[in-house]
Amino acid sequence: MSAPFDQIATRVLEGGEATEQDALAVLRADDSELMDLVAAASRLRRAHFGNTVKVNYLVNLKSGLCPENCNYCSQALGSQAPILKYSWLSKDETLKQAGAGLAGGATRVCMVSSGRGPSDRDIDKVTEMTEALKAEYPDVEVCACLGLLKDGQAERLKTAGVDAYNHNINTAESHHDNIVQTHTYEDRVETIGKAKSAGLSPCSGLIAGLGETDEQLVEALFALKALDADSIPVNFLMPFDGTPYENTWELTPGRCLRILAMARFVCPDKEVRIAGGREMHLRSLQAMALQVANSIFLGDYLTSEGQDAKSDIEMIRDNGFVILGAEDALVGSPVVEPVETHDPAIRHRGAGTEVPANA
Ligand code: SF4
Repeated sequence: MSAPFDQIATRVLEGGEATEQDALAVLRADDSELMDLVAAASRLRRAHFGNTVKVNYLVNLKSGLCPENCNYCSQALGSQAPILKYSWLSKDETLKQAGAGLAGGATRVCMVSSGRGPSDRDIDKVTEMTEALKAEYPDVEVCACLGLLKDGQAERLKTAGVDAYNHNINTAESHHDNIVQTHTYEDRVETIGKAKSAGLSPCSGLIAGLGETDEQLVEALFALKALDADSIPVNFLMPFDGTPYENTWELTPGRCLRILAMARFVCPDKEVRIAGGREMHLRSLQAMALQVANSIFLGDYLTSEGQDAKSDIEMIRDNGFVILGAEDALVGSPVVEPVETHDPAIRHRGAGTEVPANA
């Protein structure tokens, strides 16, 4: 029998740890316990991150055309999803896209490329982009996500000024081979180790909704805890048509909230980021999820559109949070200023009109 959620939070705040049994109890919390769960997890969130939200911005440097077969991915070999496909962005285009995210409130730019892993020429490109980005925006944090790393590549990224490296474990080791066959779980763990040894901040997370059991979600979270990832993106499967997971809908908003709360209990002082699938799966619980998680992506994802970036910023502010490290920079920003007001929209449909009602 696990302790009530508030008692688990107290134990963790006093230096103890959430157990696997606690994590399972969080995942299986009844709907009637959801507010208590969020309140308890938010004590940990506030203890470590106060009222700040870290805002990250994705730039997809190379989209689609991947030889790997990750079943969940719209960019994978065999995916028929009608996504944008292009090879490497130029340095100037990368700077332009990253600049848009920074102007919108992001403090970290995540530069991502599809593929099994980078060639040394690809590393040349990313190091040049990073140097140019840092020259123009000295405070920007840069995270690279380029796939499996070979020896020496992480060190080159670090030297160029890259701050973090993302490589998700995605799921439990016991479920990994069901979701991809062209590389192993061990390959993924090895790359996180290489990034860490080079002094890059390790970022690694998971994707929920891939047919995993509760126990496997717990297994994945405790693996991330053991890997000591500094940031943990929690993705919720976006089941693209044309991929093996099309029409796979295992998640509810409440389930997603429980998964984020579990991440907070197990890794209380780590950056828990609500990642892909936030809008479609959390839906009206997005704001509540910010009470548990402390980080989001602004705007669009790698191959899908997110909600309007202004709505992301508005959601953060409406709920009493501030954007980590960017509030001053945002004063006067055209992206942020208009969100303060919402003029009434005059009704021109339904009763008294010939236009169908909003129902
Ligand atoms: S997750 Fe990465 S490695 Fe896997 S198919 Fe997608 S782009 Fe390729």
